[in-house]
Amino acid sequence: MRVSQLLNPTLREVPAEAEVVSHQLMMRAGFIRKAAAGIYTYLPLGWRVIRKIEQIVREEMDAKGGQEVMLPIVQPAELWKETGRWDVYGPEMFRLKDRHDREFCLGPTHEEIITDLVRGEVRSYKQLPLLLYQIQNKYRDERRPRFGLMRGREFIMKDLYSFDRDPESSKESYRKMYDAYERIYSRCGLTYRAVEADAGAIGGTGGSHEFMVLAESGEAAVIFCSDCSYAANVEKAECSPRTVSGDHLQGKTGEIHTPAIKTIDQVSDFLGIPKTSLIKTLAYQGDDKFFLVLVRGDREINEIKVNNVLGPFVDLRLAEPEEIRSYLDCEPGFVGPVGVSGEVFIAADLEVAEMKSAVCGANKKDYHLLNVICGKDFAPAQIADLRMVTPGEPCPKCGGNLKDARGIEVGQVFNLGTKYSEKLDAAYLDDKGKEQLIYMGCYGVGVSRTMAAAIEQNNDENGMIWPMQIAPYHCIVVPVTLKDNEVVSTAEKIYTKLQELGVETVMDDRDERPGVKFKDADLVGYPLRITIGPKALAEGKVELVYRKTKHTELMKVEAVCETIQKIVQDALSSNCF
Ligand code: ATP
Ligand code: MG
Repeated sequence: MRVSQLLNPTLREVPAEAEVVSHQLMMRAGFIRKAAAGIYTYLPLGWRVIRKIEQIVREEMDAKGGQEVMLPIVQPAELWKETGRWDVYGPEMFRLKDRHDREFCLGPTHEEIITDLVRGEVRSYKQLPLLLYQIQNKYRDERRPRFGLMRGREFIMKDLYSFDRDPESSKESYRKMYDAYERIYSRCGLTYRAVEADAGAIGGTGGSHEFMVLAESGEAAVIFCSDCSYAANVEKAECSPRTVSGDHLQGKTGEIHTPAIKTIDQVSDFLGIPKTSLIKTLAYQGDDKFFLVLVRGDREINEIKVNNVLGPFVDLRLAEPEEIRSYLDCEPGFVGPVGVSGEVFIAADLEVAEMKSAVCGANKKDYHLLNVICGKDFAPAQIADLRMVTPGEPCPKCGGNLKDARGIEVGQVFNLGTKYSEKLDAAYLDDKGKEQLIYMGCYGVGVSRTMAAAIEQNNDENGMIWPMQIAPYHCIVVPVTLKDNEVVSTAEKIYTKLQELGVETVMDDRDERPGVKFKDADLVGYPLRITIGPKALAEGKVELVYRKTKHTELMKVEAVCETIQKIVQDALSSNCF
């Protein structure tokens, strides 16, 4: 491809709305253009990267026995009503009606559609296991579409669904996919980590892992142990309860006047006791249910855990002040668990049950209670792990030291069990002719997000730095002038030869200053650049520049093409460059 012909509109300015480097660089390097919030057009170079990632994914899915299909984007509401997810999915789902007023959605995910296919086509145990996948646009009307391809409303996903006879076989499918995912992200040249994850709206009880590309700009917080292999999304990370709160109240009990002292910080300052001696009481509204959640004063409530333990709720939110007044007859800021009517459900974090003596709101304006003990002064209906873990705490598996990192979730695998097959009645006949439910799993790769993550991990002040495997092209040939015939004809020869050798090559044939060409080549991030200038050429040489290391070598014209072919082949076969 010649740059003069390539639709590659580069920008000198960073678009104001682009907050993260991948979004900025994809806009500047002419890889994408925005059509609407979270909806993008892919230009030729961007699309080439997408197709390469797709191809790696496809090869790894096929290698595990996956069969590629194509499922509809427009899906009938009836199927989603069968599983109950038409209501649960909420405003993230794009909904539409046809001319007959029938309801449809644009597929945010495809469990319903594919289970419908399988329940119709699979009868016998002999047809299982079955691994079906597709690579297709998904539609989610995200609350905050942002960061370019990272969180789009239309985005590209590979989704595979596994269908098995029993839990053991289903586990085997899960293991295969976990394996395939490790290969996919390694082959894309990314530094990643598999972490234990919450199953969220997709559901299932058989476990889930997310694959996180580690990057500062990542939206997800990952917790990992520095001593063992434990790693989890912070939403999921388990907490080990510890008794650390001492008796700072020195025997004082009863009510204490705390005028306008409402927040944990204020109470801690006012009483001169650490936050670890306070109980934080938050009132929640989960659909129609009003309840209290208690954690130690220095902790944060983990709403994912709250939803899993006490829900699931379609809508979980903090209660409004009026709701607090009406259920507890108390001003917000002074809420506590003591003396609350039996109708109000109270859930306490494991640590609260371990607190020796605590201070909490008195359910009375301007008052707190001293020396309160869980189990004696109040009895939670449920005691469970409901809080966020913090770095520095002991690992729940080995007691080692927990650390945190930021990650971009580029894929997730779920063991679904029979959640969908039960609802949709997807069954098969076993070898004794008895009907059995199919065990399912689902496995997503965010293809377009993986492209963004690759840029987040591989860039410098000059632009993108593509790993060879997913680079839009392997190499760019840059003649520094078009006025020197020798330079131009050598560039043409090298360009032609490289293509014959299977090296994906771009030729910068524009009549531009060398500085402009180098800047654009660096911005796009071609892994290799051959610069052809009159001075070196007089000695029969051209310059090879490595984008990543900036390393430069002078090379004989006759040798350069074979050398580049070898560099590219080695990089592609070793999966690292
Ligand atoms: P998130 O928590 O980031 O919203 P998710 O857990 O809802 O993502 P999944 O249902 O697990 O997403 O989808 C599988 C993969 O699709 C994700 O791991 C992610 O890489 C990608 N993905 C999900 N939502 C988006 C989006 N809005 N834009 C781009 N990629 C996405
Ligand atoms: Mg996910």
